[in-house]
Amino acid sequence: MSANLLSDHTGAWLGLLAASLLLATVAVGMYLRERQRSLALAVELDRVSREMSPQLARDNVTGLLTRSGFDAVLDQWVQKVDRSGGAFCVLYVSLDNFFMLNDAFGNDFADGLLKNVSNRLAAFTGADTEVCSLAAGEFALAVRGEMTVGRSTANRVSQVFAERFAVDLIQTPLTCSIGIAMYPAHGSRAMLLGHAALAMRSVRLHGGGDFCQYDLKMGADVREQAILVNELRSALELGQLELYFQPKIDAISLQVTAAEALLRWHHPERGLVSPLVFIPLAERYGLIGAIGNWVIEEACRNAARWRERGLRMRVAVNISGYQMREDDLVDRIEAALRRNGIKPGRFTCEITESVAMEDTKVTQLTFDKMRQAGFHVSIDDFGTGYSSLASLRRLPAAELKIDRAFVTDLEHSEDARSIAKSIINMATALNLRVVAEGVETVGQCELLVSMGCNELQGYLFSMPITANELERLALDDHRHENVEFRESLFAETRSAELDGDLQPLPRDF
Ligand code: C2E
Ligand code: MG
Ligand code: MG
Repeated sequence: MSANLLSDHTGAWLGLLAASLLLATVAVGMYLRERQRSLALAVELDRVSREMSPQLARDNVTGLLTRSGFDAVLDQWVQKVDRSGGAFCVLYVSLDNFFMLNDAFGNDFADGLLKNVSNRLAAFTGADTEVCSLAAGEFALAVRGEMTVGRSTANRVSQVFAERFAVDLIQTPLTCSIGIAMYPAHGSRAMLLGHAALAMRSVRLHGGGDFCQYDLKMGADVREQAILVNELRSALELGQLELYFQPKIDAISLQVTAAEALLRWHHPERGLVSPLVFIPLAERYGLIGAIGNWVIEEACRNAARWRERGLRMRVAVNISGYQMREDDLVDRIEAALRRNGIKPGRFTCEITESVAMEDTKVTQLTFDKMRQAGFHVSIDDFGTGYSSLASLRRLPAAELKIDRAFVTDLEHSEDARSIAKSIINMATALNLRVVAEGVETVGQCELLVSMGCNELQGYLFSMPITANELERLALDDHRHENVEFRESLFAETRSAELDGDLQPLPRDF
């Protein structure tokens, strides 16, 4: 009985065990199948998400890649180059003056501008090119191919900026600085964008509006720029800035009619630093306001001193685009003129053509105030921009300065001659005086006089010289031998001209 009972129990246990085993096997099988399915699903998801990630990471409006989408593209391209060879380039594109425009016209304007730029750059997107918006005013392009492809793409991008950008009826010129780095030649994937940015900053350092490729020594250039900006901050206090003056000469009488103030920085180690190097830095790092004010005051102070000595020259000061956007610029000039007892008609503001043609409310307001104040306005570097007759007529300009590039080529280029001639004809039609800058040879001088140019400025007559040198020359002091002296230059100019209003002078005055 108990043996039967035992064998019954054992049977039941064995049955139970077999059922459990069966269940466990089914469960393990199901688990393994499920795991296999989810693994396959994960692989598939991964593939799809990798394929999709550039599309997912695009800006809906512009279609440009976001930074993460761009990184994914670069990763893929790096893998491909590592696997099968070849190369690609990254272009770091940064809008020059974007933050200045943002400050001047506000965020809505800046957003509109960025949308415009994005739309133009989006046109570059294709099988071999990807475009990304990195940050406000900063873009990047990846383009398959060697440096020649990178450079020609940079060239095409620059051309896209040749046409002005229109936002809310404001037309603004815009330039960009582009740095190019190539993979694998210019370092690892991690350094690629950084090296392109370094190349971009090197372009900026040299004035912007251009492109260049990455070079090993570029890190040092950027460090140098930072040092220079720091030193510029204290240059004013340390008395390292000085105004030089270059005379403007009447083409007929050869009398000095004016002196243009040109800023110089006496750097304790570097020697004389050109304004072409430090003015763009001062503009970019917010130092131009203080420096510009000092220039205005110093120019007026010197004009007052010359006047005390019986010299009646107009004084001309270069005004940067940043200064034109300061709403109290004219008030400050008027105050400096009053302090030094100078009539507004003896003060000339030289404003480059590109700044003068910025058709913005802020610059127009400053021009209106200049007109009311009675200053002379001179359009500097004329011929390099896109001015129309109509736009020139709107400005209170009394003078156009033909850009040096045309003067330099006058004797050898038919084109330069016809440009100079048409500028002079146009100015005459608009009742403006014409000054030729950078006159170096007698041949250039004769051609300009025959074309009807009113005033001449350049090394042929005098280099920019210190205020004391100018004064010594004007007072006929021959002890200073460094500067070439021409007897007729510094005779006193007629007071009627200098005290006059904004009308140009008659040719036979
Ligand atoms: P700019 O106003 O067009 O000045 C003319 C430049 O041509 C000056 O260079 C002058 O020294 C140079 N120059 C004059 N005659 C000749 C010549 O016969 N041959 C050659 N090759 N060059 C000649 P500089 O002094 O280096 O100034 C360069 C630019 O820097 C100026 O161009 C002006 O735009 C800017 N700048 C100078 N001083 C100031 C300033 O106080 N404020 C501002 N905002 N800009 C300034
Ligand atoms: Mg000038
Ligand atoms: Mg000029």
